[in-house]
Amino acid sequence: MPLHKGPDEPESEPDRRLALNPFYGEANPVGGMTDAPPRHRLPDGPLPPMSAYQVVHDELMLDGNSRLNLATFVTTWMEPQAGVLMAECRDKNMIDKDEYPRTAELERRCVAMLAHLWNAPDASAAVGCSTTGSSEACMLAGMALKRRWARRNADRYPGSARPNLVMGINVQVCWEKFCTFWEVEPRLVPMEGDRFHLDPQAAAELCDENTIGVVAVLGSTFDGSYEPVAEICAALDALQERTGLDVPVHVDGASGAMVAPFLDEHLVWDFRLPRVSSINTSGHKYGLVYPGVGWALWRSPAELPEELVFRVNYLGGDMPTFALNFSRPGAQVVAQYYTFLRLGREGYRAVQQTTRDIARGLAERIEAMGDFRLLTRGDQLPVFAFTTAPEVTAFDVFDVSRRLREHGWLVPAYTFPANRQDLSVLRVVCRNGLSADLAELFVEDLNRLLPELRSQPRPFSRDKQAATSFHH
Ligand SMILES: *Cc1c(COP(=O)(O)O)cnc(C)c1O
Repeated sequence: MPLHKGPDEPESEPDRRLALNPFYGEANPVGGMTDAPPRHRLPDGPLPPMSAYQVVHDELMLDGNSRLNLATFVTTWMEPQAGVLMAECRDKNMIDKDEYPRTAELERRCVAMLAHLWNAPDASAAVGCSTTGSSEACMLAGMALKRRWARRNADRYPGSARPNLVMGINVQVCWEKFCTFWEVEPRLVPMEGDRFHLDPQAAAELCDENTIGVVAVLGSTFDGSYEPVAEICAALDALQERTGLDVPVHVDGASGAMVAPFLDEHLVWDFRLPRVSSINTSGHKYGLVYPGVGWALWRSPAELPEELVFRVNYLGGDMPTFALNFSRPGAQVVAQYYTFLRLGREGYRAVQQTTRDIARGLAERIEAMGDFRLLTRGDQLPVFAFTTAPEVTAFDVFDVSRRLREHGWLVPAYTFPANRQDLSVLRVVCRNGLSADLAELFVEDLNRLLPELRSQPRPFSRDKQAATSFHH
């Protein structure tokens, strides 16, 4: 699909209008009947607020039900109190730290809490910021890696050297964006056999004097598995011993950095590893906040070249900022602070454990049906991928995805990248709000569909490309 473009109405219908129900008008139903604002052109005059509200509201009824969306990692349920706080802050601009010093202070506290949670050796030395999500956080972290490398290689760059970034082919699309936008060569380690994420040895082998860093993903979006961050660091330690190359690691913990600290305390993946120089997470995934917030942290100011940090003074103060955006809502940051305060470590542990238990239970139920083979079991991220069992020839994963949609469930089906393009999977993302009861209804719906799927003469999905829905 191209980006949004201008009106695409056929010639015969150059000026299609929105339909207005006469009842929607404030006082005069007859006036309401004659009003029909254009769709693709700014209307000439105003509408009563109630009419405008109803028109927009009615159109949005056809959006899916976010709670039944098992494709997204992003939070779809928060407490009413969080909603109230967000509404109270919707006029606050995060950039305006002088005007809204308390909002800025809450952001600072969140960074401090994350530095502590991720075991920064000196939490007061760690630096970080909020962002609109992990994508922006990854851009910032990638820029810091590139700038540090450029400083070390000032004699060769921008002359002859071309920077590269080493990562698994399973990285989220934001890393491809980073490489394209900032002109860094992506060096991707392909999948092999039953290994669906980055291999430490293969990563070290791709590194050379132009490698700005290695990205390790804590929680692959393809199958929910954790990449072996400690082993990747160890392979890079060995590389340094052999060759003198000192390659920093960035951990993309979009999901896992808010799961592992609570459920996998003994897994060492964070700032306890000296080679990990920065970490990002999505506050709006397992940070449990509505869309619009992410976090980027660096071990110490040495990891974040100071020329990247801008000082903003024309809004009244002198505030350091590191961001791609300028203006941005403060509400999500406030909601993150609220959630930290509300849940604490024990609360997060309880919520994430419940989600993981539901994921594991659901994976087991699906395995027990006999028609599917699990690739992951929901015991790392509460996410699992599965495919059809080898003997199943009547239907494929795309058929399952399409049929589940008829019952309102969004479960994406997609093909893996190199070297496992032969493998197509379904993926279920369990989030807080997918209750055990909803999970049970999902199993019932899938069970009801199976006899029909089994009696198909062959898989029906002709256009695999079209069948593949959103899965990042
Ligand atoms: C979701 C995700 C991203 C992108 O995060 P947004 O918050 O949606 O911008 C990046 N990396 C990984 C591993 C992800 O799961």
